[in-house]
Amino acid sequence: MADGAWPRLYSCYKCQNHICCHDDIVSKSFQAESGRAFLFSHAINVVQGPKEDRRLITGLHTVADVHCSDCGEVLGWKYVKAYEQLQKYKEGKFVIAKFKIVKANW
Ligand SMILES: [Zn+2]
Repeated sequence: MADGAWPRLYSCYKCQNHICCHDDIVSKSFQAESGRAFLFSHAINVVQGPKEDRRLITGLHTVADVHCSDCGEVLGWKYVKAYEQLQKYKEGKFVIAKFKIVKANW
């Protein structure tokens, strides 16, 4: 949090539940099936679904869908494990679809 200012947050587009902080964005150039997505180092108020192996453009990953803890909407997924060395930085991070979140506190 910079200079005691309120963090700029993103909320669930359905129920306004706070999901992630602008400061935690690792990358804005992610592509999900549904369109643009952001990679976040943290997410809050989300529930993790069952793990599954998915073969993505960047190789095999173990991922888990993440749901809003309030309304249950699927917001994106978490990278649980990356098998390719170059993709390891994504482990433990969250991909959230851009259209599923709205700005709060900006
Ligand atoms: Zn929600």
